[in-house]
Amino acid sequence: MLWARNLNAGAKPGRIATPRERSAMADQATAAFLGLAIGDALGATVEFMTPREIRQEFGVHCEIVGGGWLRLKPGQVTDDTTMSLALGEAILAEGRVDARAAAEAFDAWMRAKPVDIGNTVRRNLITYRKTGNPEAPASEHDAGNGAAMRILPVALATLGQGREVLATACRAQGHVTHHNILSDAACIALAGMVQDFVRGKSVEDVERANAAPLVAVHPVFDYTVKPRDNPSGFVVETIQAVLQALFATETFEDCVVDVVNRGGDADTTGAIAGMLAGARYGLDAIPVRWLRRLDRGVAESCRLQAEALLTLSAKGPAPERIRGD
Ligand code: MN
Ligand code: MN
Repeated sequence: MLWARNLNAGAKPGRIATPRERSAMADQATAAFLGLAIGDALGATVEFMTPREIRQEFGVHCEIVGGGWLRLKPGQVTDDTTMSLALGEAILAEGRVDARAAAEAFDAWMRAKPVDIGNTVRRNLITYRKTGNPEAPASEHDAGNGAAMRILPVALATLGQGREVLATACRAQGHVTHHNILSDAACIALAGMVQDFVRGKSVEDVERANAAPLVAVHPVFDYTVKPRDNPSGFVVETIQAVLQALFATETFEDCVVDVVNRGGDADTTGAIAGMLAGARYGLDAIPVRWLRRLDRGVAESCRLQAEALLTLSAKGPAPERIRGD
């Protein structure tokens, strides 16, 4: 099993995966989607708290209990998961990553009165309603983590299609609300990490191929300097906290617990860390007590989308498919 996965790790785009490789990839893709939702549900309880406040109230926060400033039910998720699902639905309906379809999906999502919504997301979706342009104006201030938190369906839909397809798709979905170079770089690195983990690469290879180049091009992301506690919604701080937790731990649970106990934007760091750790460790590594607590409908949607997006990715990049039809 391991041998087959390692062989697949070096596969060129377009190489057909064996059934065994496909089932391993489906397992890790599903774990990434469930991990995203679980990290969101766990972290939301302590969003905007400091590590000290978390210690005083919970000791170590490690159970999905709801509450928090949004007064959630146990297992309820927030915008990080619901925007990802909205985007995934749009990709599946369209058969490709399409900026306009994503903008329409996010607009419908906002009309449905989500439990929370980021300022940049709201502002640029309102602009989209006025202009009809699915690409927000470029802004050096729009470096929040709102595009990065919902990148998972893009990573799965473009698996095995090469880095250029991935980068173009990341920018298309990201720019609907966050037209910013740091947001783009974070999205591309995260999506690349998910893809490499799902294809069975080791954590060392994943770091070398994605996190190291991110820091080389944008040194502001350097995550090796000092522990990033209380990470804000600034995508740089989000990525630093997530990568520190991911690379310092060796289980799904330890990774997600580490990052949410840093407080700050804990639902979003939890969601992104849960996504990466799910892709890294697979379904069996997710604690059953967390899976049981997660909202049933959300869990079902995560499972269905993960499978469907992988199936879509196996058809190859969209333009070739359209020409071939
Ligand atoms: Mn949220
Ligand atoms: Mn958040």
